[in-house]
Amino acid sequence: MKIVLDHLTKKYPSRTKGGADVYAVNDFTFEIPDGKLIGLLGPSGCGKSTCLNLICGLTRASSGKIIFGEDDVTDLPPEVRGVGMVFQNYALYPHLTVRQNIMFPLENLKGKDKMTKEAMMAKADEAAGLVQIGELMDRKPSELSGGQQQRVAIARALVKTPRVLLLDEPLSNLDARLRLQTREEIRRIQTETKVTTIFVTHDQEEAMSISDYIFVMKSGIIQQIGKPQDVYDDPVNLFVAKFLGTPQINVFDGEVRGGKLYIGGDAVLPMPGVKDQPVHVGIRPEGFILDENGPLHCDFRSLEVMGRDISVVSGHRNSQNVAIRSIIDADNKVDTSKAVVRFSLKPHKVFIFNKETEERIRV
Ligand code: ADP
Repeated sequence: MKIVLDHLTKKYPSRTKGGADVYAVNDFTFEIPDGKLIGLLGPSGCGKSTCLNLICGLTRASSGKIIFGEDDVTDLPPEVRGVGMVFQNYALYPHLTVRQNIMFPLENLKGKDKMTKEAMMAKADEAAGLVQIGELMDRKPSELSGGQQQRVAIARALVKTPRVLLLDEPLSNLDARLRLQTREEIRRIQTETKVTTIFVTHDQEEAMSISDYIFVMKSGIIQQIGKPQDVYDDPVNLFVAKFLGTPQINVFDGEVRGGKLYIGGDAVLPMPGVKDQPVHVGIRPEGFILDENGPLHCDFRSLEVMGRDISVVSGHRNSQNVAIRSIIDADNKVDTSKAVVRFSLKPHKVFIFNKETEERIRV
């Protein structure tokens, strides 16, 4: 089922006397396509949880509409919206078994939706099978690992066959290995059930790796929507460019002059048709080519070996990053005896941004 947000806004009064209102979610207007997994991505405090809480009905909108399929659900309470919710802290009932936890949402069904014990058990078994915890059904949550507890929480969210699945930082409490495994699990479950899913995270790698589309947010405002690779390859502003990618994009103070892009005294790329102006220059770590005749001169500092690739760490007085990191193939030989390392640049990995607005300047 598709979800449409139409000028959705949530405003909180300022916490300081006389201060400005906080727009946690500011004029969200977009469509989430049916059956897709969306990564809602942004730094802490940008409004991700507020957006999720608006969609599930735990928070009331200040203005705007939320449409599920053809139904306007803006004023409906959470329990009738058909939403499954999974939180960072699992929120399982400690005194109930896994089976009882998963069945819990079904026990509360009333009227025509009321189910027999047998039907509930069958539904719980089906949901448990989906997240592969069938053999844990008689345990208590304290007898499970963090990853297993989160699977139970996902099964509980799925047991009522929700129209929408909302996941709020579901992997944050897991260690690195389990995080990786569980995110692949979530992707598998989503692909199998085809339930429209919104996955909230501040971790760009997590969002990039499992989402059909990412929605990048900053201070309550959507910055960019797109397929993860497209947003990475074509960021609309400096914030998005910096938010996506590890190692982070390298940013330099630069200048366009006479149809050329300068970093310090080095003319690093032709920029025909761009008017003379100071700019931020973003260069992806994979955008550097080791080249003894290359135009960009950096101060060599060290090499970081990463197996298949190596990261050349260098400095430049125009660099906004503390260190410049360039990823090159490990087959390259780097002469570590020299004080200067020279690079040429891959044009499609170099972005320029307006110095004041930080908006992308298209070349
Ligand atoms: P995120 O999930 O991205 O970390 P939140 O949605 O929790 O962000 O918060 C977004 C903004 O709204 C923050 O500035 C936060 O302080 C503010 N905010 C959230 N909930 C409330 C509330 N109940 N009252 C006032 N301000 C709030």
